[in-house]
Amino acid sequence: MSPDLERLREAVPLVAAIPPGSLQIKLGEAVIGGPTPGVIAGPCAVENLEQVLCTARNVKAAGAHGLRGGAFKPRSSPYSFQGLGRPALEMLAAAKIETGLFLTIEVTDQTQVELVAEYADLIQIGARNMQNFALLRAVGRTGRPVLLKRGLSATIQEWLQAAEYILAEGNRQVVLCERGIRTFETLTRNTFDVAAIPLLREITGLPVIADPSHAAGRRELVVPLARAALAAGAQGLIIEVHPQPEKALSDGPQSLNPTEFSGLMREITPLVGAVGREL
Ligand code: PEP
Ligand code: MN
Repeated sequence: MSPDLERLREAVPLVAAIPPGSLQIKLGEAVIGGPTPGVIAGPCAVENLEQVLCTARNVKAAGAHGLRGGAFKPRSSPYSFQGLGRPALEMLAAAKIETGLFLTIEVTDQTQVELVAEYADLIQIGARNMQNFALLRAVGRTGRPVLLKRGLSATIQEWLQAAEYILAEGNRQVVLCERGIRTFETLTRNTFDVAAIPLLREITGLPVIADPSHAAGRRELVVPLARAALAAGAQGLIIEVHPQPEKALSDGPQSLNPTEFSGLMREITPLVGAVGREL
């Protein structure tokens, strides 16, 4: 291994102590980090019961393993829809009971951790909170699996140091999620750093997944970026899906409708086979 990667590994001893390929994280019936890429899909934000159930049924039928849905939204503007809070958690729970999909739910504040941990199989730390160290420690202490998204302008080292905070609490169940970083380009919402995927997989056994929706910011780029991520070794995807993206209260322009999501699943199946895995 090159000296710079060796120095990086020394900065994150707990993360680097997990040998590549060794860690599988069980989420309901699904496993992330095994031979099958895990696919998580659902709305950016939970808006009402009908929306969540409709999305959950559709993504399950298309082959997804997990359902995503925000209850507490970290919006850039305080005037944007902030999420329904606790009622959204109940709606997600109903969708889980009906479909069997595991739940991925974001926490934005330490005060929500206990509540969200009661519902979430995979607790999401969003890009804006990647360096909220008190929050990282708090989710670490829940012992629940954590989805750690890359910060808006975080280097790979900063990202792995954030993971180290969670591991330092005795919780090794961390999934890393590449969701694009800020660059000078404005036609995409973020710049998808595809190189981060194989690089991370060389440094650590923490599973690595990709979020092409937030990287792209536009729905027509979601399928190509999903393909690129899987070809580069991503062990899963998280995709925003909404029954009527044009009416979504958040992230509509990058959300797929259920038909488009089924198309994505069909498109990635042969690709996953071609890189020696299965879906
Ligand atoms: C999200 O998943 O809806 C989200 C806010 O993502 P990110 O933290 O990657 O911007
Ligand atoms: Mn979103």
